[in-house]
Amino acid sequence: MTSPVSSSVQAGKRLVVKVGSSLVTNDGQGLDLDAVGQWCGQIAQLRQLGREVVLVSSGAIAEGMARLGWRRRPVEMHELQAAAAVGQMGLAQAYESAFARHGLKTAQILLTHEDMADRLRYLNARSTLLALLRLGIVPIVNENDTVATDEIKVGDNDTLGALVANLVDADALIILTDQAGLFDQDPRHNPSAKLITQAQANDASLAVMAGGAGSQIGKGGMLTKVLAAQRAAKSGASTIIASGREPDVLTRLAAGESIGTALMASQPIWSARKQWMADHLHLRGRLVLDAGAVKALAQDGKSLLPVGVREVQGMFEPGDLVACIDQEGRECARGLINYSSSDTRRIMGKPSHQIAQILGEMIESELIHRDNLVVLS
Ligand code: GLU
Repeated sequence: MTSPVSSSVQAGKRLVVKVGSSLVTNDGQGLDLDAVGQWCGQIAQLRQLGREVVLVSSGAIAEGMARLGWRRRPVEMHELQAAAAVGQMGLAQAYESAFARHGLKTAQILLTHEDMADRLRYLNARSTLLALLRLGIVPIVNENDTVATDEIKVGDNDTLGALVANLVDADALIILTDQAGLFDQDPRHNPSAKLITQAQANDASLAVMAGGAGSQIGKGGMLTKVLAAQRAAKSGASTIIASGREPDVLTRLAAGESIGTALMASQPIWSARKQWMADHLHLRGRLVLDAGAVKALAQDGKSLLPVGVREVQGMFEPGDLVACIDQEGRECARGLINYSSSDTRRIMGKPSHQIAQILGEMIESELIHRDNLVVLS
């Protein structure tokens, strides 16, 4: 059986494959070298068919815990970071030797969210990944857990997989997990739960079905996978959530077979600049807008003027990315602001012609110009 998404995997040249911690480490028992060998063998076959593959692999913390003989995931940040540093060695070695058996070279890329939030570092990460793909190398990406603190963290590798899919303009994101896919109810508690074979990535009911729970081993549950699919869809990548234990899952997907859950990207593709703004996970501040300003941004395609701002939250400088929220706290847009938080507080609620009088000069008449704004619906 084939589906439009499986055929987008079939037709797509560039794939991002994400494997979760429970899979890589056999539910936390230590690296499953057999399974790693299987996926690497399949990726080698895809490479021979002219596909480019970026692998996003979790498992550093889980493998580090196994190597350190820790049974419980530590809560202290520095212990997690230590475990990640120990485990990442094992991950890198396992992939390097498994790919070497197929004559393929690998490269390790460890990213934090900050690397993608900074425009220059984002463009740099992109060029490096694309250069590696051109050189025929398999990039293996993980979060740089050893240096990532909460503020600069992506947090889970499903999201990281989607960010990487956006970064390299992938055709599809394949999330391999220990479940068969996304079910309409939690299959661990409900035997009548049905597998969703296909849906639109932006279908709001999916997040409700996905609930919140994840495993003890990895970081992501089904919800992070659904949100990752929505994120990946913004650059036109469809997402497959499938079991990594399914034999030949990657090569079969690439041959057009329908396995697991296919979440289609059908929305218009955002420009690279808009995607970069939308991909920021941590914003410097928030502006609470009145209803008129929300409408001006969301429906009328206008810039944000100081007059429509009711409240300023956080500390930011000109050029920082801030969220625009409505009175109910929903984020309706985000953009690069022209004024600092202290100046914004002084001019909020005022017509633009008073800016020069209040601040001594007027840099711009808009707080956020339309060109620097992305509307989120
Ligand atoms: N980066 C973490 C690791 O490699 C995993 C995060 C996740 O499981 O999503 O251990």
